[in-house]
Amino acid sequence: MIAAESTGTATKGFATHSPDAKFEPFEFTRRAVGPHDILIDIEYAGICHSDIHQAKNEWKDSMPTSYPLVPGHEIVGRVSQIGGEVTKFKVGDIAGIGCFIDSCRECASCKSGQEQFCVKQAAYTYNGTEMDRVTKTYGGYSNKYVIDENYALKVKAEGDLSGVAPLMCAGITTYSPLKRFNVGPGKKVGIVGLGGLGHMGVKIAKAMGAEVTIFSTSPSKEADAKALGADHFVVTKDPANLAPLTGTFNMILDTVSADHDVNPYLNLLGLNGAMVVVGVPPSPNTIHALSLIFGNKTLSGSLIGGIPETQEMLDFCAEHNITSDVEVIDPSRIEEAYDRTVKADVRYRFVIDMGAD
Ligand code: NAP
Ligand code: ZN
Repeated sequence: MIAAESTGTATKGFATHSPDAKFEPFEFTRRAVGPHDILIDIEYAGICHSDIHQAKNEWKDSMPTSYPLVPGHEIVGRVSQIGGEVTKFKVGDIAGIGCFIDSCRECASCKSGQEQFCVKQAAYTYNGTEMDRVTKTYGGYSNKYVIDENYALKVKAEGDLSGVAPLMCAGITTYSPLKRFNVGPGKKVGIVGLGGLGHMGVKIAKAMGAEVTIFSTSPSKEADAKALGADHFVVTKDPANLAPLTGTFNMILDTVSADHDVNPYLNLLGLNGAMVVVGVPPSPNTIHALSLIFGNKTLSGSLIGGIPETQEMLDFCAEHNITSDVEVIDPSRIEEAYDRTVKADVRYRFVIDMGAD
């Protein structure tokens, strides 16, 4: 354990310096631990496809990447130091960090626990700034994070934490819309894309009691889908496979990261059905109004979740014994993990061992 000094917290991470560059060791200084802060020694950081989009500057029009970039917003580790006013954590506790680390705390979104929609914009865990709008944020591909205790999550799990890290983004991103659209017993839910988000979606929707169908471009994932709890597996490369399912779903959650047509899935919704998009393909989709009008259908988006709901999700997952299925790598394999994730060959989340245990 390295004590944070009053001048700051020396941190070792892995950064990329341009869209095509490899990750390299990168040393930087986080702030000193303030009265309301905790210092987390990071054990694991998940690789979310959003890390890849940003490392490659694929969101340059809406969220350009500021290099050097240290990605990572699926963070779990152990609290190694606390500020004098901290009440939520003690040294030795396990804590998590998701996609944001602060927000204005005063707007309607913050006050209602939906800090991800802070009107002043939440401070993103990386590729952003602290609320001072000056101090650049670096993410969890690193050994330490200093965060206000109110923006860190409490983790009850003990033992191997690698499968817990992805809950901080993939877990909450799927839990939140499944809950908002009342998924439960008697409901038919479709999950499009069996990757990091998709496999969490199956586990959570099953735990909520729904009948779950996976829509996948990868026939080789069928056995895994069933092992994850899916009731049905549909290979989407042949549109004929979708036709018999027309009008049968209450909710469909689209987690796909690449360009694809969403209209065939809207056709699968029944009366008052809802499709929720969480994946962020690079190009816009074209939707005919009639696809929504017939059946009073809803097309919605969903962005991660606020701190209270993320804590609720962690507690739900602990109660239902849900963790992510992970492939643990060391930091020298980040590029390989990115390449395999882009090729839809992730089973089902890469997690980097940051070495603190
Ligand atoms: P991932 O692990 O790469 O999974 C994406 C899956 O999409 C793939 O495994 C693949 O599943 C499917 N897919 C890939 N290429 C496809 C194509 N050309 N056509 C159809 N399906 C394809 O990614 P992830 O980490 O789950 O993230 C998914 C997306 O969600 C990303 O765009 C990410 O940025 C976004 N995201 C959004 C939020 C939010 O708050 N809204 C939060 C986190 C991530 P199959 O092999 O089964 O087809
Ligand atoms: Zn993410």
